Amino acid sequence: MIMEKQRLEIIEYGIRLLRTGLTNGTSGNLSMYDPETGYMAITPSGIGYEETRPEDIVIVTLDGERVDGERKPSSELDLHASLYRMKPHARAVVHAHSMACTTLACLREPIRPIHFLLPCFGMSEVPVAPYVTFGTRELADSVAKTIGDGDACLMANHGVICCGAGMAGAFGLLETCEWCAELQWRCMCAGRPAVLSDEEVQKAVARFAGYGQ
Ligand code: 13P
Ligand code: ZN
Repeated sequence: MIMEKQRLEIIEYGIRLLRTGLTNGTSGNLSMYDPETGYMAITPSGIGYEETRPEDIVIVTLDGERVDGERKPSSELDLHASLYRMKPHARAVVHAHSMACTTLACLREPIRPIHFLLPCFGMSEVPVAPYVTFGTRELADSVAKTIGDGDACLMANHGVICCGAGMAGAFGLLETCEWCAELQWRCMCAGRPAVLSDEEVQKAVARFAGYGQ
């Protein structure tokens, strides 16, 4: 079975996405990319994460040509493919309708650096891509035009998308975005959150470089 390792990782993290409450039902989608073959493994459209089997994962080229699998690939195939084209380090992409990120996306409010955790994960801000109908090439273009240098982007009135050098990294970034978005939303409910200055952001990033063991 081609891309078996990636298929299993996609299934594992899809279940994690659901069980950690970062998405519900069949919302969201996950993919992994192999630059050697140019193939992308992606979740099938509209199949529950707990029900997805390795053979349900669809293998496609970045142009959407099916290489292996009987299922219809995720409706957001173009969105995932465009991130792999734009971000040479990306090997995994996760899209979710997580509640706090989606709340800010509906307010069309970027996630700002009100806590040092966001810059420590490489994001000075998570921008909001203008609203476009889901599952369209225009949505992929909207995110491509907005995402900038970072690895995460909110999608207006829709959700969030993150990429990374591996699935653990992409998923971890999604968790961080969700935590920061919830913090910001809570602060916005109570008042006006204070945004860290560029100088404080830089100091936290420098400090974080030596964090941990
Ligand atoms: P798929 O089930 O087709 O992946 O769609 C879910 C989704 O979140 C669309 O934006
Ligand atoms: Zn979606």
